[in-house]
Amino acid sequence: TAENPLPSMDRQHMTTALSEPLESTNPYENALHQLDIAARYLELDPGLHEILKHPERELTVHFPVKMDDGSIRIFTGYRVQHNLARGPSKGGIRFSPKTDLDEVRALAMWMTWKCAIVNIPFGGAKGGVVCDPKTLSIGELERLTRRYTSEISIVIGPDTDIPAPDMGTNAQIMAWVMDTYSMSCGRTVPAVVTGKPVSVGGSEGRNDATGRGIVVMAREALREYGRQLQGATVAIQGFGNVGSAAAKIFHQMGAKVVAVSDALGGIYNPNGLDIPALQECANRDGTLTTHTGGEKIGGKELLELEVDVLVPAAVENQITTENAGRIRAKIIVEGANGPTTPAADRILHQRGIFLVPDVLANAGGVVVSYFEWVQDLQFFFWQEEEVNAKMEAIMERAYRDVRSMARREDVDMRLAAYLIGVRRVADATTTRGIYP
Ligand code: GLU
Repeated sequence: TAENPLPSMDRQHMTTALSEPLESTNPYENALHQLDIAARYLELDPGLHEILKHPERELTVHFPVKMDDGSIRIFTGYRVQHNLARGPSKGGIRFSPKTDLDEVRALAMWMTWKCAIVNIPFGGAKGGVVCDPKTLSIGELERLTRRYTSEISIVIGPDTDIPAPDMGTNAQIMAWVMDTYSMSCGRTVPAVVTGKPVSVGGSEGRNDATGRGIVVMAREALREYGRQLQGATVAIQGFGNVGSAAAKIFHQMGAKVVAVSDALGGIYNPNGLDIPALQECANRDGTLTTHTGGEKIGGKELLELEVDVLVPAAVENQITTENAGRIRAKIIVEGANGPTTPAADRILHQRGIFLVPDVLANAGGVVVSYFEWVQDLQFFFWQEEEVNAKMEAIMERAYRDVRSMARREDVDMRLAAYLIGVRRVADATTTRGIYP
């Protein structure tokens, strides 16, 4: 990285910070703990640290949706903007029955570091609606999305805060977000949201971008072991947008995907799974557990397989003090946000497992979101090859920056990534100054 050397490490400080590895089921507490470790290491001014701990803006909305049976249901949604120092805030919208304000706060903070680590001109935000999209009809989903968009339209916009897909949302939902926002403006505003279908201003390559970025990060990590993607064994927890695209691209690049799972369970075949057949099965049955090309395995059990690369691409808090001692992968590339607790991080690091952290590993998605936003602002669209090549270049560059920071400071990849990301945000904040 181009930045100046860090202040000399205060060993005493560090031991105190690291002697209390926290493990909480609350993602925001874990996110704050990760920030604490980086702040102590950077000897960040306490006032500046305090700024970064708090989201800048939080909006909670309770809104009605007319259900198909004629009844009215009230839903709760959030939009949290963690930091805007480096540019408009960016981050997905999650539809999940388990989401809450603290989860959205954590996800927004992680977006801030992620955008800074890959050095794109955005701050971090996240949105969420407490709902189970699987139980809603298409009409209900559309009405919910449109009303939620209308409720948060006071804080989003193409140059203020730009949503995108996350768990439980997809390109169609982003099209409704774009249309709803556009209707209120009286003109089409494609740059208000990314992850849209290509037909309405989406970018080529966006759908697979997070998964493709994961594979690029796995390739870089394998190189450190003198290995290639070709023939490397891979296990993937989660078969949503991230897990399924990663599986497809690993497979195309000659890696051996031996296990995948979704919310209902997983499937394992030491000789490698037929990923196109699995995808067909998931499209047909809504789950991959009906696939017959391997033996059944639990999603948690999958994490403990002896593989070259493990990709947790499901939800938060999957690798904890409970199972970190049993992980047998050489390399972990985090597809999900927050799959590993700070306490588990420490165990993995001590056991010599090489982990590429979420804020770097899954940034391919937001990098191509940035490209989508740029294309929308210019009404000028790129070919997929160009999108992929530019994304890979940014990801490889960020990997090298984080890797050399990790070497130089003798820390794990998460702390190294935070040292880069947190410092960039802190620098922007002090350079801009505290208003008024
Ligand atoms: N939801 C994705 C993430 O967690 C993408 C965000 C975006 O593209 O803005 O990184």
